[in-house]
Amino acid sequence: MSYDYDVIVAGAGLAGSLAAISAAKNGAKVLLLDRNNYEEPGKKSNWGWVCGDAVAKSHLEFLNKELGLTFDRPELDHEVKGVYALSPDLQNKFPFEGEGFMLNRPAFGRKIARAAEKQGAEYRPNYEVEGPIIEEGGIAGVFGKDDKKKEYRIRSKVVIDCLGMASTLRRKLPVNDLIERDIRTDDIESTGRYIMNFKPVADDEKYYDAHNAVIHLNQQMAPGGYGWVFPRNGNKVNIGLGIEKKCLEIRNAKLGKADNLHSLMDEYVKWNKAIRDDGLDNTDGNGKGYWSVTVRRQQGSLVYKNYLGAGDSMAMPNPISAGGIGSAMIAGALAGRVAVESIESKDTSIKGLWKYNQLYNDAYGNKCGALEVFRIYLQSLNNDLLNYGMAHFITKEEGEALSYGRMPELSISSTFHKVLSGISNINAFRNLLFTVGKMKELLEVYKQYPEDPAAFKAWNDQVAKTMKEVKARLPPAPV
Ligand SMILES: Cc1cc2nc3c(=O)[nH]c(=O)nc-3n(C[C@H](O)[C@H](O)[C@H](O)COP(=O)(O)OP(=O)(O)OC[C@H]3O[C@@H](n4cnc5c(N)ncnc54)[C@H](O)[C@@H]3O)c2cc1C
Repeated sequence: MSYDYDVIVAGAGLAGSLAAISAAKNGAKVLLLDRNNYEEPGKKSNWGWVCGDAVAKSHLEFLNKELGLTFDRPELDHEVKGVYALSPDLQNKFPFEGEGFMLNRPAFGRKIARAAEKQGAEYRPNYEVEGPIIEEGGIAGVFGKDDKKKEYRIRSKVVIDCLGMASTLRRKLPVNDLIERDIRTDDIESTGRYIMNFKPVADDEKYYDAHNAVIHLNQQMAPGGYGWVFPRNGNKVNIGLGIEKKCLEIRNAKLGKADNLHSLMDEYVKWNKAIRDDGLDNTDGNGKGYWSVTVRRQQGSLVYKNYLGAGDSMAMPNPISAGGIGSAMIAGALAGRVAVESIESKDTSIKGLWKYNQLYNDAYGNKCGALEVFRIYLQSLNNDLLNYGMAHFITKEEGEALSYGRMPELSISSTFHKVLSGISNINAFRNLLFTVGKMKELLEVYKQYPEDPAAFKAWNDQVAKTMKEVKARLPPAPV
């Protein structure tokens, strides 16, 4: 067999640039491909780098430890102390992630793509990837078209798929039991996001907080998702919301409305009492955009024969926050390393690459099945139940623990002794206990992640069975 490269990394977003840095640093001959021009690595579509842009400090620390990368201005635009989620009536506030940064995504994307080149990876912008070269049931490279529409086929020992959530590589894998080629629509959030200049018109941290990222849970404003107001440097804000299609349909039918993502987004901006829209900040053409993000556990397996996936291509965003920057970069760094180790040991089979599944689960993925269950529970609550639940069901500490996928078992059962009023509140509380039970169950299942791919199917069936039970008991009921 002859190969053009050891490793092809498809997609120069967060996962891809990190995978290329990592594989090149470990000594591989690496090709990094992206459809965008040289100045726009990581741009998701013509809408720009659509994202909330918030990343936890701990994730950047991981990259420093793993690859020696450091970041500063302009790619780190603004520092925040944390993230908190507010109940629909704005009366209760739950902390949910610690310190972090608001990124300037175009600058961040350029910084890491340039770092990949500096590390020795060859970077080809303007390359559209159209699918995988499949040989002997495994992946042997990619094909597509360059900027002159000329067809190309490039061969490599390993392909790392970092093409984002609609990955054409994942969708064109051979039919297999390891990686789902399509993602269910009820596991996807449609999102809108503006980067906006604003005039401060009131000092009210429930709507805008210069030092914290604010999340608004509200099933009427953002059915099945949430709205966010994330501060940027100066009088600038990243404001957006995510909705789930089915929840939107239920909400519209119940309220007799015909809202869509665009109308809800504009209403959300107007609803904000602390800031007045002073026009989009359209630097890099990144002022206004719409895109989708998955809110489910990552793919059960992240590897196939001669193939690894990282970031949104493998459904890695956090199922309750949709945060996928950290997981994409962590996964990219790990995938690059494991790809090279497997090439060196002359085993890039599924078994040879399997270690990546275990490393990713240990670094981030183990909790995501449990978090998916919690997301499904949240989507089953209307605004009244969210208000009541955030006031009576759990303490701030318990809410924070749940958002990290840790189970506050003891104090939750002690809440049984608290007086809960109203049958729907009592049912919602019972469902919370069911949810916590299933979360615990899945955390245990992930601890038993198979060491051998031969045991994968039985393990994955067990996860799928639990998810089916959860979805059957907790249908979406946003209004
Ligand atoms: C509105 C919104 C808000 C979000 N907010 C946050 C947040 O605040 N914090 C957070 O942590 N996460 C957030 N996320 C998630 C986060 O943006 C993603 O998880 C992250 O960008 C994933 O990085 P990636 O490298 O896997 O994929 P992407 O960023 O999608 O990069 C994929 C790259 O592949 C290229 N590509 C795609 N297809 C092809 C092709 N066929 N040929 C060649 N190149 C191709 C693309 O152009 C792009 O450069 C949000 C997502 C959305 C949509």
